Amino acid sequence: MKSAAFDYVRAESPAHAYALMAQHGDEARILAGGQTLLATLNMRLSQPALLVDIGGFSDWRGIELRGNTLRIGALTRHVEIEESPLVAQHAPMLAQAAPHIAHRAIRNLGTLGGTLAYADPAAEWPACVLALQGTLVMASAQGERRVAAADFFLGLYSTALREDELLVACELPVRAADEHQHFSELARRHGDYAVAGLAACARRGPGGSSDTLSDVRLAFLSLGDRPLRAPACEAALQAGPLTAARLAQADAALRAELQPFADLTHSAAAKTQLAATLMQRAVRAILS
Ligand SMILES: Cc1cc2nc3c(=O)[nH]c(=O)nc-3n(C[C@H](O)[C@H](O)[C@H](O)COP(=O)(O)OP(=O)(O)OC[C@H]3O[C@@H](n4cnc5c(N)ncnc54)[C@H](O)[C@@H]3O)c2cc1C
Repeated sequence: MKSAAFDYVRAESPAHAYALMAQHGDEARILAGGQTLLATLNMRLSQPALLVDIGGFSDWRGIELRGNTLRIGALTRHVEIEESPLVAQHAPMLAQAAPHIAHRAIRNLGTLGGTLAYADPAAEWPACVLALQGTLVMASAQGERRVAAADFFLGLYSTALREDELLVACELPVRAADEHQHFSELARRHGDYAVAGLAACARRGPGGSSDTLSDVRLAFLSLGDRPLRAPACEAALQAGPLTAARLAQADAALRAELQPFADLTHSAAAKTQLAATLMQRAVRAILS
């Protein structure tokens, strides 16, 4: 199918984009990498009258270290995150997750901001940003504001972005020396959206102890209407040395707190089983 006709404006600046959004309201859509938006237009899932292309905002693209914060501009493309030495050093989970996003051609154009703003619960970046305790930087004609990732994803394709706001950047605390990060997902074929995925962070210890974890953060994707933390499982994993019995407690806690949706190919029970498998793999990877 082909999209319905629409007008196109390449915004010259953020102020220009805010003005166009105010003028056209719900009739306008922001275009970043176009890797989701153009597909939805072609499928006639939406028929906006105007596309406002923000792709020329060079200040919103790039990865930089600001003190203890890694700042990634909203227009930074997936492939730039995948290949960034700064990301590899300070937020290696993102480098692990990137190859799971679609295929290279899509990663060459798709952006971090487009993925976070779209808030597909099966996308990799939202779960990573939640596990890494990131902050989303948003701006409108009224100025800038920041929202913690934990408060940004509100539901299916729903975020804390107001209608007059755009996502400018994502800020991540740099990885502490003793923090381990791990990303893995299960998909039917490489490049497909995940059936289940897990972004996990933890510190070994206290005192670097080899069988104890602290500061455990698990964020699952594809298991609900948004990326989901698993607080009961996290608590069980850091309650003491990771004996087989404690791991079994963590597994039971996870199964009790997850309420996954079935999808076209997997039942809720199968997704729960996959999530438990991912959790056990992440713990093993972090401990080793
Ligand atoms: C075949 C295929 C497979 C895919 N597989 C995956 C996958 O496995 N995992 C995954 O995560 N993604 C996947 N994607 C989606 C891809 O990662 C997109 O790049 C991403 O979802 C959107 O980024 P974009 O820059 O292309 O945004 P666009 O398509 O341009 O925009 C997406 C939405 O976000 C809004 N938007 C964009 N930028 C901003 C901003 N800065 N502020 C506010 N709103 C904004 C737009 O208005 C639009 O509603 C896949 C896409 C395709 C076509």
